[in-house]
Amino acid sequence: KRVLVIGAVAGGATFASQLRMLDDKIEIIVFEKNATMAFANCGLPYYLGGFVKQQDHLIAATPQSFQKDRNIEVRIQHEVIAIDRDQKKITIQDHIKDTRYDETYDSLVLSPGVTPVVPQIEGLSHANCYTLRAYEDMLKIDEYVEEKPESSVCIVGAGFIGLEMAENFKARGLTVHLVQRAGHVLNMLDVELANTIEDELKEQGIHLYTDTTIDKVDQNGTTLHLANGKIIEADFLLLAVGVKPNKQLAEQSKLDIGETGGVKVNRYMQTNDPSVYAIGDVIETIDFITGSPKRVPLAWVAHRQAYVAARHIASEPIEFKGALGTAICKVFDVTGALLGHNEKSLREKNISFKTVSHESKQHAGYYPGAEKLMIKVHFSPKDGKIYGAQIVGKDGVDKRIDIIATAVSAGLTVFDLQEIEIAYSPVYSSPKDPINMIGYKAM
Ligand code: FAD
Repeated sequence: KRVLVIGAVAGGATFASQLRMLDDKIEIIVFEKNATMAFANCGLPYYLGGFVKQQDHLIAATPQSFQKDRNIEVRIQHEVIAIDRDQKKITIQDHIKDTRYDETYDSLVLSPGVTPVVPQIEGLSHANCYTLRAYEDMLKIDEYVEEKPESSVCIVGAGFIGLEMAENFKARGLTVHLVQRAGHVLNMLDVELANTIEDELKEQGIHLYTDTTIDKVDQNGTTLHLANGKIIEADFLLLAVGVKPNKQLAEQSKLDIGETGGVKVNRYMQTNDPSVYAIGDVIETIDFITGSPKRVPLAWVAHRQAYVAARHIASEPIEFKGALGTAICKVFDVTGALLGHNEKSLREKNISFKTVSHESKQHAGYYPGAEKLMIKVHFSPKDGKIYGAQIVGKDGVDKRIDIIATAVSAGLTVFDLQEIEIAYSPVYSSPKDPINMIGYKAM
């Protein structure tokens, strides 16, 4: 049996090694159009900020180590340019030798990820613009900042990547402007929780402009005119306004695309062609909470789907149960985390909900380092089913969001949160943890 994989980073490389663990005989070949495989996407901002000191610490495997340790062949700088489903073959452009060739498959796995969206801005071509997705993008930005350490940057988009890069560019000594079209940063959060993150950004010297966009870039490439009339000077721009699935190959080979724009798959990650699987950021997955289609471009999801696809190909099927969209983001000394739906998304879906909020310290107030923790949970008034949770604070945010993620995965209701017997010492919590308080208050 022969399995071919498109994309050798989070989904593709993980899938290949999972399959190898399940089956030591299957032939596996992975194609990657760029020069670097299995790098830590999520670590790129932290190299740019100087927190990760060595580039190679971000690289989990090389084609040589994959071949030696796992007997998996990875062909880098080999771009898959066509899929012929009738013949069960793909066409590959070898960018090293500049040649083209075909390979046949029994199963094909697509994990080509996404491409950053470039917003329509008048005069944008005059500016020095970067996006951050590939390892090579990181190298280019790093080179620029090395050459011009005193420069200023305008980050467009205050989602996870925009916020992480605000902190990391600042750590690198840059002047940082952050422009966000929505009314507040991290618009997956409800406004009052996002406010805490905005306060932190301002306190740390980030120039934040919300509820506005860049209308125009002057010919000098550095003068940016905002829709609200303000003018910013920035040596370069980082565009972080969102991503779109790399679904061209899927479209060209007539695989079904879902209503959210991702490749449509079943619970085993098969497309409408049972020999072709798709995983990771490129697909439309299922919302764990509502069961409706959703795109969730996050690493946990890609890794889980990689395992599910590997299990199916190895004839030991398990189902993908859906994604909560559990996510977390450090913004200087504050952390924001969330899962499921926020107020806006529940209203848009016409789902009636109740909300319980709680604000307290993350551990006993008398123990040093006690900090404010804000938790907000949306739930069904009918049965207490948790629809979404958001947490912001300086410490202990990760633990609480993970408890709620566990609760939701296990089908616990908001009321059940009072019964979770957390580990208590004044250093870590309170005899009634903020999570328990959410459960009590929801009654
Ligand atoms: P990728 O990991 O992007 O891999 C796709 C690969 O396919 C790419 O290398 C691409 O070159 C290759 N490819 C595409 N087309 C072809 C082709 N035709 N032929 C051959 N190869 C092809 N998620 C989190 O959960 N937490 C985080 O903290 C987090 N931080 C992030 C920070 C940054 C800066 C970025 C960019 C992403 C971050 N993510 C984070 C998202 C996470 O990295 C993605 O969800 C994950 O990488 C998706 O895996 P994937 O395999 O679908 O795509």
